[in-house]
Amino acid sequence: MARQHIVIVGAGFGGLAAVRGLARANVDVTLVDQRNHHLFQPLLYQVATAGLSPADIAAPIRAILRKQRNVRVVLDRVVGIDRAARQVMLAEGAPVAYDRLIVATGARHSYFGREDWAVHAPGIKTIDDATAVRRKVLLALERAEVEIDPAKRQALLTFVVIGGGPTGVEMAGAIAELARRSVSRDFRSITPHCSRVLLVEAGPRLLPAFPAILADKARVAIEQLGVTVRLGAPVTAITEDRLQVGGETIPAHSIIWAAGVQASPAAQWLDVPADGAGRVIVQPDLTIAGHPEIQVIGDTATSIDRNGCPLPGIAPVAKQQGRHAARMIVSGRSAPFCYRDYGKLATIGRHRAVIAIGGLRLSGTVAWLLWCTAHIFFLAGYRNRLIVGANWLWNYLTFERGARLITGDPTPKDGGYPWLA
Ligand SMILES: Cc1cc2nc3c(=O)[nH]c(=O)nc-3n(C[C@H](O)[C@H](O)[C@H](O)COP(=O)(O)OP(=O)(O)OC[C@H]3O[C@@H](n4cnc5c(N)ncnc54)[C@H](O)[C@@H]3O)c2cc1C
Repeated sequence: MARQHIVIVGAGFGGLAAVRGLARANVDVTLVDQRNHHLFQPLLYQVATAGLSPADIAAPIRAILRKQRNVRVVLDRVVGIDRAARQVMLAEGAPVAYDRLIVATGARHSYFGREDWAVHAPGIKTIDDATAVRRKVLLALERAEVEIDPAKRQALLTFVVIGGGPTGVEMAGAIAELARRSVSRDFRSITPHCSRVLLVEAGPRLLPAFPAILADKARVAIEQLGVTVRLGAPVTAITEDRLQVGGETIPAHSIIWAAGVQASPAAQWLDVPADGAGRVIVQPDLTIAGHPEIQVIGDTATSIDRNGCPLPGIAPVAKQQGRHAARMIVSGRSAPFCYRDYGKLATIGRHRAVIAIGGLRLSGTVAWLLWCTAHIFFLAGYRNRLIVGANWLWNYLTFERGARLITGDPTPKDGGYPWLA
């Protein structure tokens, strides 16, 4: 019998887990991704705040899969799927035929219908996003150093993060440390108390997915870092240099979006029903109705846990679904996916975190050490683990943020370089 050809689209957490799950299977695998690297998104905020360099949290897909001989990697962008012909359509290359297909193309930010905000309030999802935010934040500090108008200076030194989930909390804490502590030693006119960092959340509390007691601890910890938390405050307008929150206008040059996700257009490619965030509604075994040969996993799919609640868009869900999809192919049998929740983690600044594992609630330095250990362990490759661990130790001891490089062309939305204006 001819070997089955499995096509996997997306080399994120879900796609890579599926590929690895097929390592010993008697199949040929084609992995298609629009980028040549796998990205560890949970640490992107550290690239955006100059704590880590892009290469520390990403690894070439080909290098990761070097030893898996049954995989072929294709660098291309999927633009459609022909279910009838069982083909994946690519932007550049010829269509790729499949016997089984796993779609794991992730998600991007959602601006809840206000896509015009994206240009003024970028989110972080890719390395380019993170280095653009880093440029914006570092340029604001450079411009503030030479600005003599006090109102303009305060706007340059006001940093706003929108969204009180783990990414927003981690981002706000890291910006506070960068702007208030790390860089003030290197500037002449910026002191630790010049900068204002705001964390804005439309809901009634931070970290809605965490137990309330941990969310309260996270709030106290982040306020101690100098972040002002605004809860129950939906953003109603964002422009280049200000935003409106709950009727108040706040001048700010650096506004960062950490609220809401929109799935990749897989539901359109497959012409199947999706939820409000564009996620494909899958069967309990992660296939789509009437097509047992197609599975959709990770942030692109919406599936429910045993209590009927939608599973969160997090890396462990994507990885477990990837492994499940591979097991189904290897065994040739359908089985419902069952998520095992190993806990939730979020860090606040350089030595505090909150962790909920089953009934266990942890906060403070012990939680932070666990958070560090887990993130180092899950990074791809020994080199990245070593470098990130050493970086964190160095940062912990010195407050130094070694990746403070302004790279790329400044765009008008960055305000440009003042000396070129
Ligand atoms: C800033 C940030 C912080 C996060 N923090 C955490 C955290 O602390 N803990 C946690 O568990 N989760 C966290 N998450 C969520 C987690 O990263 C996602 O749930 C996880 O990455 C989903 O995995 P995935 O495989 O579905 O998609 P992804 O990992 O996003 O991978 C999708 C892949 O598909 C590729 N792709 C997309 N479209 C196409 C196309 N048209 N053609 C070809 N390839 C395509 C992409 O290049 C990418 O490689 C965070 C996410 C972000 C953005």
